[in-house]
Amino acid sequence: MLVHEQVEFICGKGSLGRLFPAAAIGLGGIFLAAGLLNPTSNCYNKNGVLQTPTQCASTNLLFAVLGGVVLLAGLVLALRGTKQRDTRYYVTTFRLVEAKQRRIVREVPRDLFRGREFSQFLQVIPTLIVNGTPFFTAKILDPRSGDEMMSLRNLTQESINALELVGQVVYCKYCGQRNDAKSMRCSQCGASL
Ligand SMILES: [Zn+2]
Repeated sequence: MLVHEQVEFICGKGSLGRLFPAAAIGLGGIFLAAGLLNPTSNCYNKNGVLQTPTQCASTNLLFAVLGGVVLLAGLVLALRGTKQRDTRYYVTTFRLVEAKQRRIVREVPRDLFRGREFSQFLQVIPTLIVNGTPFFTAKILDPRSGDEMMSLRNLTQESINALELVGQVVYCKYCGQRNDAKSMRCSQCGASL
């Protein structure tokens, strides 16, 4: 961290990323168990009529296969999640930073966006709503190359608002004061921005 640098927000693999695999593993496990453990003499169809052992066996097999597939998908997601969880994105007063296992792998100074219309480098995609709170994915393009630079997931509206300010404000490197992007001098200490 630099002097006067402050983290505006941090984005990592959110708790939602862990919830989905866990739910899939749980549900898949129940279906798999139901399919494998249900005796073939104890099956009813949807009208409540007892089925023959052959019909029952195929129903059980369907349950087991379905459960197995969901369980497997959950495991794969969980495994991928543990790999990605180490990636974190920081938006600070001076930089956008991507860090893996606490080491910076990529950083872009906010100066690059200064005075430019940041919205042209920012794509905000609404992803899901949990208990009435909307979440977004934000993709940030590198202003130098136009390539996608960061994909921030599970962002709240608050974080989006902070992101949208990136091109509109400039923080003084000497005192930390927030200034309008058009200012040439810091409104607090008078340093050249
Ligand atoms: Zn200043």
